[in-house]
Amino acid sequence: MPPSGSASSASGPAATHEWSTRHSVLTLARRTVALLNALSPEPPEPEAVAAVLLEYGEPGPVRLTEADVADLRAAAEELRAVFEATDVDLAASRLNRLLARGTGSLRLSSHHGESPWHPHLDSDDEAPWGEWLLASSCLALTVLLWDRQEPPGGVCASPSCRHVFITRGSGPDRRYCSRRCATRERVAAHRRRAAGGGGG
Ligand SMILES: [Zn+2]
Repeated sequence: MPPSGSASSASGPAATHEWSTRHSVLTLARRTVALLNALSPEPPEPEAVAAVLLEYGEPGPVRLTEADVADLRAAAEELRAVFEATDVDLAASRLNRLLARGTGSLRLSSHHGESPWHPHLDSDDEAPWGEWLLASSCLALTVLLWDRQEPPGGVCASPSCRHVFITRGSGPDRRYCSRRCATRERVAAHRRRAAGGGGG
């Protein structure tokens, strides 16, 4: 349904930079993460979900009905399984399952000239929100897994957090969704050790 940004003014280096930033696979994967995190509370706040869509280039105003948000959340919960996969083989088999069941054929869209041509896996530009989220996320996560040969993302290791994140291409294994969660868990572990008499 939504175009992933407008390139109507695409000329010159700044516009080119904006185009590649907005349409890179990594940006699409980050949008998936931001949407899954906004959709993880039960019930999700429609305003928070709409804010993410706007932030990632969806033309406003974005009005989401309760049914739209429920549809998006169902897709988000399915996609979560890919982030929970701890190795690349499992992530690939879970992505394959979603691709077989929930997406259409690969096609190109420019949203009637409103955006640069880019690939879509949903059945139609007017597909329902849930179908769009599942298809666009599967596309981005598939390309990331292909490129890196590792799971495209992970789930925050903090027991009080449900947030997902994108795995870095290289560098140390990431365990937490944010610095905030990492700090909170480090402090908690420190307190547990102190309460236990300094052991372990
Ligand atoms: Zn977290």
